[in-house]
Amino acid sequence: MQRMERLTAFWESPDFDEHERVELVHDRASGLTAIIALHSSHRGPGAGGTRFWHYPDPVTAMRDALRLSRGMSYKNAMAGLPMGGGKAVILANPARDKTPEMLAAFGDAIEAFGGAYVTAEDVGMTEADMAAIARRTSFVTGLPADDAGSGGGDPGPHTARGVFLGVREAVRVALGKDSLSGIHVAVQGVGSVGSGLARHLADEGARLTLADIDEARARRLAEDLGCESVPADAIMGVDCDVFSPNALGAILDEESIAGLRAGVVAGGANNQLARPEHGDLLNRHGILFAPDYVINAGGIIAVTYEYLARQAGERIDLAQTHAAVDAIPARLAEIWGTARADGTAPSRVADAMAQRLIGR
Ligand code: NAD
Repeated sequence: MQRMERLTAFWESPDFDEHERVELVHDRASGLTAIIALHSSHRGPGAGGTRFWHYPDPVTAMRDALRLSRGMSYKNAMAGLPMGGGKAVILANPARDKTPEMLAAFGDAIEAFGGAYVTAEDVGMTEADMAAIARRTSFVTGLPADDAGSGGGDPGPHTARGVFLGVREAVRVALGKDSLSGIHVAVQGVGSVGSGLARHLADEGARLTLADIDEARARRLAEDLGCESVPADAIMGVDCDVFSPNALGAILDEESIAGLRAGVVAGGANNQLARPEHGDLLNRHGILFAPDYVINAGGIIAVTYEYLARQAGERIDLAQTHAAVDAIPARLAEIWGTARADGTAPSRVADAMAQRLIGR
């Protein structure tokens, strides 16, 4: 029975959503095995990062590629970018298996897509990896910052700024407060996005509680910002105004939602809802949810404008990126307004808006 399930064709998987193109790439010489998934090219070439991960099995990797590429269609559309949705996964251990030969073979595979898919960083991939891929294809972005104004560097700070603006808007809408002064935010994960967010919040006088599975990292940042840190398994139960997930996906399910003591969930992590109905559950609990692919679009906005500038032979125009990130709170306010008027969950409203924008 188990074996039968594993042999189900991917287009029969619940995660298959009329993806336009899904390709398995195998290069014997370098050991590369990758999946490149193009969900929708309705708005432009499919843009989305490459995840380099040691998946337990190929079925899980395929599910990730299908889900993440659809998520990118939604994210890019809601950010107003002229890009469709795509994503790639490389099935290997980034710490052990990543070689220049493998990245070169992956660059060739992207080149063979002919520009229908544009890649960037995701989990397990760095700016230096993007530079290696760029030696084989121009359909890559998120390159290291350079004097020529061609590479934009780490997209994390742009994501953090967008999440910060979204949290501020959520506090205004849910709590009726125009200032973050004294607002208590519990931040789960203080990596690139979570630490940037925490600094913005601290600058505006918010009260913070931080947590990370790397407890020393959370403690160091807490000391720096003069706030508290708690063990990672305690952060979702902290009595606060805003819970901000900035680590893993699928953290919001029946059990965790029942334990939340926050009026708002707003953070940068991708795919926070374990299943779509958990968006409805948050709504029934009276918790205002910021759909993740709307609030965390700052990074893809930055790497997309970087890509478009390079294609046009121009320098990156940071003002354009900032203006697009600045538009995130208004998009969230529109979603929350419609959700309130229709008596439905913001996650459902966002999905419907995104689907309309990609012609589905
Ligand atoms: P990161 O790897 O820099 O940081 C993640 C942090 O979360 C690490 O410090 C890690 O130790 C911690 N962590 C992992 N599991 C945890 C747990 N159970 N409890 C508490 N902490 C935990 O990653 P990042 O770039 O900051 O991304 C964070 C999230 O935001 C991810 O879901 C990512 O997909 C999403 N995201 C990032 C960007 C970006 O521009 N970097 C853009 C969009 C979405």
